[in-house]
Amino acid sequence: MSHRRRVAAILTAVLALAPAVLALPATAQAAPRTSVTTAVTDKLLGQTALTGRSAGPDETRVEVTREKGGRWAFGTAVVVAPRTEGAAPTGAVFVARAEGDGWTVAFDGEPAFADLAADSPVVTAEEKRIFASAGPTAAAEPLSPGDFVRPLTGGDYRTGMALPWSTGASWTMTGGPHQWDGASGPYSSVDFAGGDQAVRATRAGAAYTMCSGFVRVIHDRGYASDYYHLTGHVNANGTSVSQGTFLGNTGTNVACGGSATGRHVHFGLRQNNAYVPIADHGIGGWVFYSTGWYEGYAMHGSTTRYNGGALHNHGALGLTQGIVDANGGGSVNKRSGPGTGYAAVGSVADGTTVTVSCSRNGTTHQGRFGTTSLWNRLSDGTWISDAYLWTGYNGAVNGAC
Ligand SMILES: [Zn+2]
Repeated sequence: MSHRRRVAAILTAVLALAPAVLALPATAQAAPRTSVTTAVTDKLLGQTALTGRSAGPDETRVEVTREKGGRWAFGTAVVVAPRTEGAAPTGAVFVARAEGDGWTVAFDGEPAFADLAADSPVVTAEEKRIFASAGPTAAAEPLSPGDFVRPLTGGDYRTGMALPWSTGASWTMTGGPHQWDGASGPYSSVDFAGGDQAVRATRAGAAYTMCSGFVRVIHDRGYASDYYHLTGHVNANGTSVSQGTFLGNTGTNVACGGSATGRHVHFGLRQNNAYVPIADHGIGGWVFYSTGWYEGYAMHGSTTRYNGGALHNHGALGLTQGIVDANGGGSVNKRSGPGTGYAAVGSVADGTTVTVSCSRNGTTHQGRFGTTSLWNRLSDGTWISDAYLWTGYNGAVNGAC
């Protein structure tokens, strides 16, 4: 079709829909009547599951950090915390698009957030990549359903995160699992202090300064990590960070609410726009467990640390790695094949990090978390029972052999 004929055809089509459609281009260019700040505030206040309580408009802090043509906006939306023990501010990174008189607003971790961000000219390519990374879904499938039932959990607890300080250093767990906001929600958060007091990103991602002393890093796989009470913190606006990038120092900063009796970082784990129980998740080579409010412990293999104990930051556990857990023993035999009928070809000490090449079923064994017939072939070609390996995943972490 020639250019002239195409124009004529389009004109004919438009005129056929007149007069209502002809008026559309003018209104579509008009600025929305509702301000983006109002739209974001309304959404924030409507999400009591996010804020943990019914907050008032005077408690919100919405900051538009990027804007384009009155049509797109991006920024942070925070509810400051009451001045009570354990409270902390919370909120979201948002992306908004003008639609008619109002705005379509999505918060980080919501499915709509990745979709809206993908279309937005104010979101960087690196942010779009991170936001689009899907999180772990439902419980992982064991190789042979029914062969392996882990009594405590059936999901995917691999975060790929280190602890929020330098790898190789030890800090103190000053408060076991508790809520992020001190009042509601799961026990998503742990308090740490010690060492050089320099708080660092637990995994690569995009960092955002939410509020004074409050930094969020959005990671891949739907995860985000929150850090509060920081002093001398970065001013981040989607800043690309690596695992170990400095975010701020531990402190007693309560500029955005809450209280702190001694310097620490209040560290929280989020997934898919919600705080999630930190229990059972692997972070820095440790698996966290909750026994009560601010009470719990962390395990690295059979090594257990309670409140006040020192946690050595082993760094991030790879998604196809595991930590040998001899269930109180000193080591686990390695075999030449997937079962105790194969020759022992060495042993591996409790707490050792190993890499899994693939898995298959063999003889059945009882470990700390239950009974399984799954065996893992390690990167050195030897095999150990999955009963003695913490991977954070109920099944084969690197496919079947
Ligand atoms: Zn805390």
